[in-house]
Amino acid sequence: MIRVRFAPSPTGYLHVGGARTALFNWLYARRHGGLFVLRIEDTDTQRSSWEMVSGIVDGLRWMGLDWDEGPDIGGPHAPYFQSQRLDQYREAAARLVAQGSAYYCYCTPESLQQKRQAAEAAGGGWLYDRTCCTLTAGEVAAREATGAPRAVRFKVPRGSTSFIDLVHGRIEFPNAVIEDFVVLRSDLQPTYHLSVVVDDIEMAMTHVVRGDDHISNTPKQVLLYDAFGSSPPAFAHVPLILGTDKKRLSKRHGATSVMEYPRLGYLPEAMVNFLALLGWSPGGDEELLARDELIQMFALEGISGGNAVFNPEKLDWVNQQHIQRLTPEDLASRLEPWLRDKGLWSEHFGSSRRDWFVALVQLFQPRLKRLDQFTHEAGPLLRDDVIYEAQAVAKHLRPELHEPLSLLASKFAMLDPFTAQPLEMTLRALAETLQLKPASLIHATRVAVTGRAASPGLFEMLELAGRERVGERLRKALTHVAPPA
Ligand code: GLU
Repeated sequence: MIRVRFAPSPTGYLHVGGARTALFNWLYARRHGGLFVLRIEDTDTQRSSWEMVSGIVDGLRWMGLDWDEGPDIGGPHAPYFQSQRLDQYREAAARLVAQGSAYYCYCTPESLQQKRQAAEAAGGGWLYDRTCCTLTAGEVAAREATGAPRAVRFKVPRGSTSFIDLVHGRIEFPNAVIEDFVVLRSDLQPTYHLSVVVDDIEMAMTHVVRGDDHISNTPKQVLLYDAFGSSPPAFAHVPLILGTDKKRLSKRHGATSVMEYPRLGYLPEAMVNFLALLGWSPGGDEELLARDELIQMFALEGISGGNAVFNPEKLDWVNQQHIQRLTPEDLASRLEPWLRDKGLWSEHFGSSRRDWFVALVQLFQPRLKRLDQFTHEAGPLLRDDVIYEAQAVAKHLRPELHEPLSLLASKFAMLDPFTAQPLEMTLRALAETLQLKPASLIHATRVAVTGRAASPGLFEMLELAGRERVGERLRKALTHVAPPA
């Protein structure tokens, strides 16, 4: 049974890198009928907060990633907050000391700092010099008698440490470059290496899928697995996400917190699709994948070792494509909050005018890259007033069109039914009678009714605007168009 986890430290919001890590783990679990665990790594109590935990949970929920065990739902390995598992880490550290895999270190931070600075001043690096590893029983007893604070350090054996990474292949580190690292601080707080290994063993993780930045931590963790007599899980380190300038993704590149994306008008389906393809590829050319398809196709072997580039234009394209895939009814429901926010929502759009509203949404659907664009795009049909764009007026509402528009207004006033096809026939017939290019009358009408030079199909729009509003707007537009001198 495959068991994977997402183990965020709640010291910040859920950023896109973390979201992608969570997604890969989730997809892997769902692909193989395994279990996905959410574990909150909040041992750094100074920097962790509830606000961040709920932000992370909200982000995962928005993306539709559900977990089988975790802080809110519990599970056989509860609690899922590391801050509530401290006894287990302390007990594990004591076990390491008892079996000779670790030792107490009484060195003060000041003395360590001094040695490090001296080594650096001499132009070298510094690894812990094992001062406390060689203390005699008497020296230890003397320090214990004074109640000197003590940390627990892991005793790194000679040799080398290697692991098979499912993305990068075999990775080996000489142990000489790994210092005797602290596993439990003198204030009894575990370090990340200890807590992550104790939990991954206890929670029976079969795979650890996480960011590349953890590769250098892995040998230390492999050494801990050995010391605890457990075989390590399979590791898969996923490449970093870079901005289009090939620098590590940061705020400079735009939104990095996942929860900014719903506010920017992105669909969770699109975000999931886009993030899945950051570093993973299903093999073919297909780039638009629904959640179920991703689950069907996901394989750790498809993760590339090269860095992934976060391209906002591609995200817009993926989002647009997913918007097109929604039923107009579904899209209409997702747009409601945006209309409410702009004060453009009418309760009738949910009842007596539902069909009208859904038809409006459908008409604008092909033009939307993001949900936020709808209120602007469809604004002329949602607002009572019309704002004339000066450029559109100058270009399309020319004086010689005064008379034709005025004639069109009278014809439209009598048209029944006021629907796209008869509207189009009427306009084209008038253009022919007046020996005008239909396009110039179409453009003029569009500007007259919407104030803008671009819109979806004019006649569908006129139908939705309705006889009254169209008549009103044509009359209003005529006041902008001086008749030819
Ligand atoms: N809490 C660690 C982090 O957020 C988890 C690393 C891991 O997955 O082992 O980076």
